[in-house]
Amino acid sequence: MAFTIPEELHKVEANQCAPLTKEQLLTNYTDVFMDPISSVPGEIHFELDPNVSPVQCAPRNVPVALREKVKEELDRHIRAGNITPVSEPTAWISNMVTVAKPEKIRLCIDPKPLNRALLRSHYHMPTLEDVLYKLPKARVFTLVDARDAFLQCKLDDESSRLTTFWPPWGRMRWLKLPFGVSVAPEIYQHKQHKLLAGLAGIEPIADDILVVGCGDTEGMLMQLQCYNLDVVYKPGPEMYVSDTLSRATLPHQGPDTPHVRHAVFATQTEYAQLDQAQHLNVTSFRFRQIAQHTGTDDVLQELKTVILDGWPDFKEDTPLAVRDYWPFRDELNVQNDVLYRGQCIIIPKALRAELLKRIHSSHIGGEACYRRARDTLFWPSMRAEIKDFVANCSACNEYARNQQKEPMMSHEIPTRPWQTVSMDIYSYAGKEFIILVDHYSDYWEIDQLPDLSAQFARYGQPDKVISDNGPQFACEQFRKFAANWGFTRHILPPSSKIKRQGRSGC
Ligand SMILES: [Zn+2]
Repeated sequence: MAFTIPEELHKVEANQCAPLTKEQLLTNYTDVFMDPISSVPGEIHFELDPNVSPVQCAPRNVPVALREKVKEELDRHIRAGNITPVSEPTAWISNMVTVAKPEKIRLCIDPKPLNRALLRSHYHMPTLEDVLYKLPKARVFTLVDARDAFLQCKLDDESSRLTTFWPPWGRMRWLKLPFGVSVAPEIYQHKQHKLLAGLAGIEPIADDILVVGCGDTEGMLMQLQCYNLDVVYKPGPEMYVSDTLSRATLPHQGPDTPHVRHAVFATQTEYAQLDQAQHLNVTSFRFRQIAQHTGTDDVLQELKTVILDGWPDFKEDTPLAVRDYWPFRDELNVQNDVLYRGQCIIIPKALRAELLKRIHSSHIGGEACYRRARDTLFWPSMRAEIKDFVANCSACNEYARNQQKEPMMSHEIPTRPWQTVSMDIYSYAGKEFIILVDHYSDYWEIDQLPDLSAQFARYGQPDKVISDNGPQFACEQFRKFAANWGFTRHILPPSSKIKRQGRSGC
């Protein structure tokens, strides 16, 4: 059952003669089931290690197939008051991570750089073992899950700015506790404990609440049993990521189910519901082939075991064969016999040569081949192998040469309109036109040739005119024209472009 932790906790009155029904529960306590969820009192403040330098990550691509859904989810969070756009500079910018689920997208920040700077409060999180000894007479157990638990916790302004992240539509920051932040579970737990402290038969475990009964609450708890609650042991030291990312709700089972979601402890089997492959541009034949080769790839099988059992605390304790994957351990998961790093499929060794050929088939040069492949495929040395593979291809080398950036020329920023203009000539429908761009305002005009003086008569004469070395400009006639009007000519070398303040000129 998912609910908002209310500021004042309700005592649920159970009556043995007439057991509480689900409808009664929902009617009598509507305030805890409302949308959007409300926040618990107080604001959260992150403590930072001053010795860690802030990190500003560049924005990452969102796969085209996911863009629309990701945008919708961002907008939903903005409407719910969970995130807000950022316009001012921020010291920290994290990457955005999207996790695709069958019916929704989950957004969180890639917390690795920020987590290194956040100071832990070392609040001890009780485990099932910690509370079991208190429950010798308990006979009925119910697990209750706070709905969007972290999003019930407000961040203070300073901490909110630390959570700035960079989706393709401009920077945003979280106003509520975001998923993925290492200190989030202990902060949330601490709050939850303070709110629930002293209530008999209620034990917070991780971010769930265990309700136990052995006497008069039993009737009520029997009613709750129809919610099909499971408790599954979940290993893994990196619970703050794997727990929140792998939590899933069961499919809808009736018209009233939006209120009643089932708390499910995180298990890797939930990934079976999340068809990541459908968001990737991978044919089902290729997918079966990858699954089959993953099954016979010794390293990937060992990696799978480590992912499912949980990573050790130290790299030195990781099996040698899979140490290459240590830096990405937070992003690895298993689904339908295929391993993923984030949204990318991890390619078994036996298929890499064939896929290299595929990646190379477009002959767009090593770096571009890699950029195209990295949205879908992954193996630890993929970038270097693609570059090696492509290095001796003359078509790729030619392409890469042609794609080289032309040198950008910076120009002095003018102090008044029409002081510096760029011009160029082009033909359309058998007529010649001249286009002029004012460097001060980026205002532009097009006129039919040969009426250039009309332009200068309208706006005054420029100090400087920039053009390419086309025959109309690099000629005696234009030199004389410049001398008459008293402007200097600036003729650009072949194939150079003008850049001023980040905008391109004419
Ligand atoms: Zn090539």
